[in-house]
Amino acid sequence: MYKKLKDADIAKKRIFLRLDLNVPIKEGKIKDDSRITAALPTIRYLLEKGAKVVAASHLGRPKNGPAPEFSLAPVARRLSELLPEHKVLFARDVVGEDARAKASGLKEGELLLLENVRFEAGETKGNEELAAKFREFGDVYVTDAFGALHRAHASVYQAAKLFDVVLAGFLVEKEIKYLKEKLETPERPYFALLGGAKVSDKIPILKSLVEKVDGIAIGGGMAYTFLLAKGERVGKSLLEAEMIGTATAIMKRALERGIPFLLPVDHIVASSIEDTTPTSSVRIEENSAAFDIGPKTVALFANELKKAKTIIWNGPMGVFEKEQFKTGTVEIAKVVADTDALKIVGGGDSVSAIKVAGVEDRITHISTGGGASLELLAGDKLPGVEILYEKGQ
Ligand code: AMP
Repeated sequence: MYKKLKDADIAKKRIFLRLDLNVPIKEGKIKDDSRITAALPTIRYLLEKGAKVVAASHLGRPKNGPAPEFSLAPVARRLSELLPEHKVLFARDVVGEDARAKASGLKEGELLLLENVRFEAGETKGNEELAAKFREFGDVYVTDAFGALHRAHASVYQAAKLFDVVLAGFLVEKEIKYLKEKLETPERPYFALLGGAKVSDKIPILKSLVEKVDGIAIGGGMAYTFLLAKGERVGKSLLEAEMIGTATAIMKRALERGIPFLLPVDHIVASSIEDTTPTSSVRIEENSAAFDIGPKTVALFANELKKAKTIIWNGPMGVFEKEQFKTGTVEIAKVVADTDALKIVGGGDSVSAIKVAGVEDRITHISTGGGASLELLAGDKLPGVEILYEKGQ
């Protein structure tokens, strides 16, 4: 097992807290603060116990050291607005003089946010010297950076290795509960619904799921590589020709296991993504492309989904960002929401799709991670999760 926040005495302790505060920022303004608000329960819990918290996060992908557009300063400002009862300080560097001075001056119930950890070149390389500097900031390591746990980066993995006490924050605890624990012995039938653009991104999860689930349905752009592999005409629809062999192998495995492997049987087709008057069709003509699943496909998928006791969903059924191609995704989201199954939705775009359909409060768990969710769902070992279990022995 691993240790959770409530499994250790953290009152008045010095805590090094790794968060995922990687929010979209444009011209210094935060466009969506949901990652910040998602971290608040853990932050509040620690501060209310009188802990002295040094928090670290990455933001974007700065390539050559510090750059103002990747600064966490706007995040620190937002945190102090959201935590009016606590003092929130911001360090102008990661492990430099400013960070060290402010960290050593921290009082009980105060939080110091370090500058973007990726301003240090050693962060993404998993540098041990950098990790040792993070170690100096606390007596206990707490991780709530779910979206980063698949990376063996210095603040995510190497630093955690150096602490005796490593705890999961509330967000990570919830993600592990649903994406790992519940799926180790899922209630059956267990059904996977996959969509989105790229087959290649989802190969590991498909290969793993085809061995575990009781049925798979594939929609979205990735479905057309599978349809072509079956010899169907897909016109100008999204394709990954180099994935045809893999797609065939996955379908063969589903057949061997005797599980349903559903693909679209009708489509919303158009001459281009900008075409606002698409038509619903079973065939995809040579000069057109499919941008959404059609109503017969919704019914086909719904028929299986309704029997499921566990559903995992990743990736939209079509180009849901466009009004004319969102119906398939919205309808499937409603079907999923209406089932009494355990419903787990993971990964960036699927979350927006659930929001477009307005059913987020009827989904058991909506994962906050992108790559991390997919890897955990695929049953991979994530460095940031593994270290939690190792230290929890
Ligand atoms: P992913 O990040 O792989 O989950 O892919 C999400 C993206 O796939 C979204 O931006 C969708 O617009 C896109 N998408 C879904 N269905 C299709 C399709 N039939 N053709 C092209 N793009 C699609």
